[in-house]
Amino acid sequence: MSPVVSSSSSPSSSSTDAIMALNAEERTRILAKAALFSPPTGVMADGRRDLVGLSREELTDLLVEIGEKPFRTKQLWHWIYHQGVTDFERMSSIARPLQQKLAERFVISRPEAATVQTSSDETRKFLFRFRDGQEAETVYIPDRREDRGAVCISSQVGCTLSCTFCHTGTQKLVRNLGAAEIVGQFMAARDSYAEWPSPKGEIPRLLSTIVLMGMGEPLYNYENIAKAMKIIMDGEGIGLSRRRITLSTSGVVPLMDRCGDELGINLAVSLHAVRNDLRDEIVPLNRKYPIEEVLAACRRYPAASNARRITFEYIMLRGVNDSEADARELVRLIAGIPAKVNLIPFNPWPGSAYRPSTREQQARFADIVMNAGFASPIRAPRGRDILAACGQLKTASERARASENPA
Ligand code: SF4
Repeated sequence: MSPVVSSSSSPSSSSTDAIMALNAEERTRILAKAALFSPPTGVMADGRRDLVGLSREELTDLLVEIGEKPFRTKQLWHWIYHQGVTDFERMSSIARPLQQKLAERFVISRPEAATVQTSSDETRKFLFRFRDGQEAETVYIPDRREDRGAVCISSQVGCTLSCTFCHTGTQKLVRNLGAAEIVGQFMAARDSYAEWPSPKGEIPRLLSTIVLMGMGEPLYNYENIAKAMKIIMDGEGIGLSRRRITLSTSGVVPLMDRCGDELGINLAVSLHAVRNDLRDEIVPLNRKYPIEEVLAACRRYPAASNARRITFEYIMLRGVNDSEADARELVRLIAGIPAKVNLIPFNPWPGSAYRPSTREQQARFADIVMNAGFASPIRAPRGRDILAACGQLKTASERARASENPA
C-alpha cells in the first residue's frame, strides 16, 4: 500500500521553482501530444471557411484578406455571438452586397444534432455530429427550482484516460474537439432553447453555467478549450462570466497552473480516492500525477478563494472508497483549501465492476466532510433514463444505436 499523503508541510520556494520548471517541460510535451489529435480545419468541402471558433484577431485577418476594414470584426462578432444568427442575410447592419460577399466565402456553423433526448427530469442530451462524422455528447441540466441550468460540454471524442468507474473511458481517444466544436456545442444547445440574443447584465439566463465535464480530459486539449472559453467569455458576445465556467480535470498538474493564470475559471478535480494505491487504480493518471502533486496544484490555483472554491468530485463506490476512515482522510488532505466536495452516487453501466454506496453510507460520509467545514452535497443523478448521468456519455448511446441497428 502506498503511504498516505501528507498535507501538513508546505513546499519551500526552491522546491516550488523546481516543480514549476518540471511542469513547464511536461506542459510542452502534453501540448505536442495534443497536436497529434488535432481537429479538422474549419474549411468546408465547398471551400468556404467557418467563422465560428476564430479569435477576434483571426476574424480580422480574414476580413482584411477579402478587402474589408477591421471594424467589421466588431459587427460580425455581435451578430454571431450576441444575436446568434447563422445567416448573413439577417445581419441588418451590414449592406446587402457585403452580406452576399460574406456568404460566398464564409459560413457560421453549428454541429448537427444527430439525436436530442429529453429526460423525465427535463435534462436534455444532445448527440452532436461534426463535419467529419465524429460525434460527442452535450448535456443540459436545468435547475429544478429556478430558470437556469448547466451545460455539460465535451472536450474530446473519446478519452485517453481509463478511469475505471467511467463508461466514456472505455472508448479510445479519437481526436480533440476544435474551438468551433466546443463553442458550437454551447451555441447549438442555446438554439434548442431559443436563448438569443445573449442575455446581458441582470437578465437571467436559462443556460447559465458551463461545466467542462463531458467526454474527455479538457486539459489534454488545452489550447482549443482556452480559445473556446475566451470566445464564450467575451463581453461583446455570449459574455458568460469566468465565475460561471468550471473545468473538471483528473489532475493534469502541469496545465492546472496555466488554466488558472490564463482563464481564471473555476476548477473541479476528480479526486475519487484518498490513497495513492487506490487512486492509481480508479484514476490511472494518478500514477503520473499523484494525490500530493494534484493537491499542491490546487493550493496554488489562482482563482481559488472562499468565494470561489475548488470542487472535489468524489464518486461513491460501495466498499471501495466510501468508509468513514476515507472521509476523515479526505478532510485531512484538503484542509486549508477553499473547497467543497461533490459526492456522486455511482451510475452503474453494463460491465462495470462497481456498485453504488448505500444511502446510509453516503450520508455518513457526507456528515464527516460537512462537520469539518466543507459543503458536501450528494449530487442527485440527473438524466439517468437517457444515459446522460455522470460517466455514462457516448459509449452508451453508441451501444444503444448498435442494438437498434444490429449489423
Ligand atoms: S472520468 Fe473523464 S477523464 Fe476519466 S475516463 Fe471518463 S471522461 Fe476520461
